[in-house]
Amino acid sequence: MPNNFEIAVFSGDGIGPEITEPTIKILRHMSERAASYDLAFTEAPAGAAHYAKTGESLPETSMKIARSADAILLSAMGLPDVRYDDGTEISPQIDLRKALTLFAGIRPVTVRAGQTTPLKMPPGKEIDFVLVRESTEGLFHTQGCGEVTKDEARETLLITREISEKLFDFTFALAKQRQAQGRGKGRVTCVDKANVFRAFAFFREMFDAEAAKHPELIADHAYVDATALWMVQKPWDFDVLVTENMFGDILSDLGAGLMGGLGLAPSADIGMDHAVFQPCHGSAPDIAGQGVANPFAMILSAAMMLDWLGVKHENSELRSDGQRLREAVEEIISRGEVLTCDLGGKASTKDAAAAVHSLLVLEPA
Ligand code: NAD
Repeated sequence: MPNNFEIAVFSGDGIGPEITEPTIKILRHMSERAASYDLAFTEAPAGAAHYAKTGESLPETSMKIARSADAILLSAMGLPDVRYDDGTEISPQIDLRKALTLFAGIRPVTVRAGQTTPLKMPPGKEIDFVLVRESTEGLFHTQGCGEVTKDEARETLLITREISEKLFDFTFALAKQRQAQGRGKGRVTCVDKANVFRAFAFFREMFDAEAAKHPELIADHAYVDATALWMVQKPWDFDVLVTENMFGDILSDLGAGLMGGLGLAPSADIGMDHAVFQPCHGSAPDIAGQGVANPFAMILSAAMMLDWLGVKHENSELRSDGQRLREAVEEIISRGEVLTCDLGGKASTKDAAAAVHSLLVLEPA
């Protein structure tokens, strides 16, 4: 089993470099103390500022770094004022998703005791579920090439057997992993609109075929509209939800809202050979350069990366370091002493990241 892992780093635009730097510092700290793995980081230039400077948004040299890396860590890319000639924004993070066939978008939603949430939480309840968003097809299939005439506009929703079967296989494996970690109930819910659209009846049929291979797990279905309601009324009942691209896009922002904001929402986009780990938020140009961005979503994404590398390469130290890092962030959030302004605090990006770092230094590995 390899134990030296190459990490491609896309520091990106806006607040990207500000949240990347302390995250890499923490990862270096963990890697230096690890007995069974080593992480090396290579910066891959890309994004809106890079496009403005060079005319290229995702250079081939950066694609090469991404392709040959064991994992990709990305902050955020895009700036509203930097656009292609057709008026659309520079978004290499979406190009990467397509180029590397990263079909499973993982959006964990957690609200621990002490964490601020707009919900009124019943005593003793916590939220801990994962939304798996198909990320390469669905209603995004014709992204950038939908047909628009004077009188009508048309986009096509595509669901394929090839991608759906991989997606469901991945999702049930994830539910099993969570159950083994004591985090999940071993329940997978297919979120669709199979009562109205044939494409979703097809989606559900393939979900049911995968479910039949896992009698030890609970598999059920929910319509997307009802799911939006239940995410507000009883989100603690969910474990793993799997859905189409556009439904997942919308529900994952609802999930970020439950967690108290985008600054706490990590994500991963996973394919058969590659994976990108990045916060759900964008480049936040309104606060860029001020040193006040919340680094927690980025650090939590890095924790997901360690966990994913650990599962993939059967390295238990990587997995436990991923868990330690996630729990350190959760601990700092629930203490509520060192929070950035989006969470109602006054801490700088550096101080918030340093609080997590100090906790890890104090803890026995
Ligand atoms: P955004 O997520 O950048 O910002 C929305 C709001 O949330 C802003 O008020 C911002 O200050 C705040 N915010 C976001 N992240 C924060 C953090 N870590 N700490 C504190 N506050 C934070 O969304 P936007 O303004 O719609 O987009 C800005 C740019 O980012 C656009 O160019 C957009 O295309 C791009 N974008 C990129 C990604 C990505 O790289 N994955 C995702 C979304 C948007």
